[in-house]
Amino acid sequence: MLKVENVTKYYGNFLAVDHLTFEVKDGEIFGLLGVNGAGKTTTFRMINGLLDKTEGSITLDGLPIDYSVTDKIGFLTEERSLLTKLTVKEQAIYYGILKGMEEKKILEKLEYWLDRFHITDYKDRKIKELSKGNQQKVQFITAIINEPKLLILDEPFSGLDPINVQQFMDVIRELKNKGTSIIFSSHRMEHVEMFCEKLVVLVHGKSVLAGELKQIKKEYRKKNIHIEANHIDVEALKKVEGVLEVLVNETEMVVKIKSDENVKNVFEFIKKCQDVTKFVVEDATLNEIFLEKVGVNYEN
Ligand code: ATP
Repeated sequence: MLKVENVTKYYGNFLAVDHLTFEVKDGEIFGLLGVNGAGKTTTFRMINGLLDKTEGSITLDGLPIDYSVTDKIGFLTEERSLLTKLTVKEQAIYYGILKGMEEKKILEKLEYWLDRFHITDYKDRKIKELSKGNQQKVQFITAIINEPKLLILDEPFSGLDPINVQQFMDVIRELKNKGTSIIFSSHRMEHVEMFCEKLVVLVHGKSVLAGELKQIKKEYRKKNIHIEANHIDVEALKKVEGVLEVLVNETEMVVKIKSDENVKNVFEFIKKCQDVTKFVVEDATLNEIFLEKVGVNYEN
């Protein structure tokens, strides 16, 4: 388990991370969110022991992170750091050996992961000859080749097309099921909503929203009802008890309500409309929750 307790980082007089506390259990996927400059990379570097913290404590399975522990950590850095003149195989061997692995084991793992990512044919190709997406797969494989206990992924999905995002997510879930603790950053809320269980949102290095995603959504009582029907009197709908806002777009109407207790009022109203083909109650999005808590849009 990774434990980050009261961690602060100053660059000179500049406070980049401010008393940050969270933990990531074995087999858990944890999201570290924040806009550019929020302090995500700084946090990752401190966890990985690449940067000294000013204050606080970081432990992995109860041990402070030093060279004896870093072999158990895999790190996909944001600035993709591949040795582009090497072949995929040479690069895997280079990093695997740095992580204390034997060549036979490295090659065995490499075969497995190349196959899993459908890029077996690239094993002996130079990295610079690969597409951006495939380079990212190779870097990801390099980060997990040593079967890390803790996997840190700094913006793992940036630059990937939706099919590759899905493939990465499937592999990350596979690692989670094997007990790996996974911490990843993203400035795309929808990526976080799709598959993380716990999260921290940083603003200027400070946690502004934290906890289990399900719980955060449950505690936030407001809901969105998606409706498709004919001849809805929007002005009358706006006056139904508990209705905060009605958004009308091309295909549907979204009714924002104060709490789940107001669903029945809207339902009673819609029942009287013609041709109702959709009535779906959904939790508010993480972006809406963030907007209300922090006062600005997360994604702009
Ligand atoms: P991004 O999404 O853009 O990568 P981030 O959330 O990873 O952002 P960090 O790179 O951790 O943010 O930076 C946090 C803050 O600390 C920023 O204001 C940045 O300018 C500052 N910072 C980062 N590294 C240094 C450094 N070496 N010296 C001084 N300030 C720094």
